[in-house]
Amino acid sequence: MTPPHTAVQLPQLPHLSIAELEAQLAAQGFKTSHAARLLRAFYHRGSLPDLQQLRLPAALPKWISAHWQPQLLRTLHTARSSDGTTKLLLQTADSRTLESVLMPDYRPDRAAACVSSQVGCAMACDFCATTKTGFERNLTAAEIIEQFLALRREAASQNRRLQTLVFMGMGEPLLNLDHVLEAVRRIGDNRLGGLGWRQITVSTVGIIPGIDALTASGLSVNLAVSLHASNDSVRSELLPTGRRFPIADILAAADRFHAARGRPVTVQYCLLAGVNDHPTHAEELAALLKQRRFHVNLLTYNPTGTSLRGHDYRGSTPEAAARFASILADRGIVAHTRRSRGPDIDAACGQLRRRSMER
Ligand code: SF4
Repeated sequence: MTPPHTAVQLPQLPHLSIAELEAQLAAQGFKTSHAARLLRAFYHRGSLPDLQQLRLPAALPKWISAHWQPQLLRTLHTARSSDGTTKLLLQTADSRTLESVLMPDYRPDRAAACVSSQVGCAMACDFCATTKTGFERNLTAAEIIEQFLALRREAASQNRRLQTLVFMGMGEPLLNLDHVLEAVRRIGDNRLGGLGWRQITVSTVGIIPGIDALTASGLSVNLAVSLHASNDSVRSELLPTGRRFPIADILAAADRFHAARGRPVTVQYCLLAGVNDHPTHAEELAALLKQRRFHVNLLTYNPTGTSLRGHDYRGSTPEAAARFASILADRGIVAHTRRSRGPDIDAACGQLRRRSMER
């Protein structure tokens, strides 16, 4: 029988930093050198490590077992698509639900993880399913890390290695900056998650103070900026945040990030039929990105039903998408068209969760 999902008490032993665990061990009279080994083993396994194998001094395994909290997230549902995408519906200790996605790479032994940074989202992007359920709360660094560990376990069960991590699930990561940065530090750290910061992409809808804070953090992650429009008028209709942050200012912040960190910037552009996929939009986007070495991802839209403002968005036709991509290519902009992942498992951000809430 599955044990009840117990509320977490502090301190959350598996989610301490190395320095914090060292302090806890020292206070109990144990050697601090066990901290890094213990946490590395936890990140490697994704759960309480095999304490016998670690060859710890006599009293330490007992102390660890007594203070090891249960996992913060439990898996409510696992949906597997015919295209290999796996979506996890996870539940927090306070009974909120969130989504995490594992996407297979074209190499048969690799996979990419997509994690959520918030429960729900306050950004109200009109074409997004997450926004329909509103914003509930920020996820903690520990909850973000547990998504990564759950997806890494899932990848291992498919004989794949988790190679990259993107913050493109539910929520706006740069509005939960402290927790996201802490999670990134630990997941990327060779002594803990071991993924490497360069394998991590933080995606934003264009929160300029957040982009500048990410730049100032010094972390060598990649940045993705969701533009989804080539001018402020179309963007403000699709993304309310567009009224606060004009495209030119967002791109200037992305320039500062690129100059300071030397890491790639990707522009995300979800092609919507009759909304942002006209050739003039492609020309405008090319003009915006001229002189910039940003890469464009043209995304295929996963329909999510009638939007908050009453629109029934449709994805661009393959012909319109190809025309858009070719205009960008003719103007020297590097763009890739990304196909929709897992359309048979509610793969649009927030869709699986919303359907489970409706049920
Ligand atoms: S697209 Fe992203 S930022 Fe916009 S509402 Fe959805 S989850 Fe939030």
